[in-house]
Amino acid sequence: MSDEPIVRFHRVIDELTLPLETRHRERLQCRRGCSACCVDDISVYDVEAECIRQRHGELLRSGEPHEPGACAFLDEEGACRIYEDRPYVCRTQGLPLRWVAENHDGEVIEHRDICELNVVPERAVVDLDPNDCWSLGPAEIKLQQLEAAHEETPQMGDSGQLCRVRLRDLFAL
Ligand code: SF4
Repeated sequence: MSDEPIVRFHRVIDELTLPLETRHRERLQCRRGCSACCVDDISVYDVEAECIRQRHGELLRSGEPHEPGACAFLDEEGACRIYEDRPYVCRTQGLPLRWVAENHDGEVIEHRDICELNVVPERAVVDLDPNDCWSLGPAEIKLQQLEAAHEETPQMGDSGQLCRVRLRDLFAL
């Protein structure tokens, strides 16, 4: 069992998402070979990038990234080559998602979304109980805390946000 905080975090996410995956088994089309959400512009905090660097060094040094247009970590069969160590965002995609955000008038609005492959018209995501959705927010905050603890001097971007690393940029060029 790894003591790495990020690995423990991923394990907790898997434990928390498992009941949702079970509850939504009939609607979820997510399986090996489906790469609909494996887009090319995914970026992660360095704490997750470092986990991939440490555990998949050979792939990053000698492997070829998937051609542009999809995630660099996909193989020819559309499977993830770092599945066990895939980032947080990859562990929740496909589930019904909910989050709250302020609109222009300062009202707090709840939003819902799901991969179009997992839409079931007779059981719309907007009608689900909140507990049947993955709520964005708490895990993202925890991830930011892990990033802050990981970097002695966390790198901040121009927008004042913690810097992120593009998955494609992890491959040696
Ligand atoms: S890291 Fe793996 S699961 Fe995540 S987007 Fe890339 S191929 Fe898909």
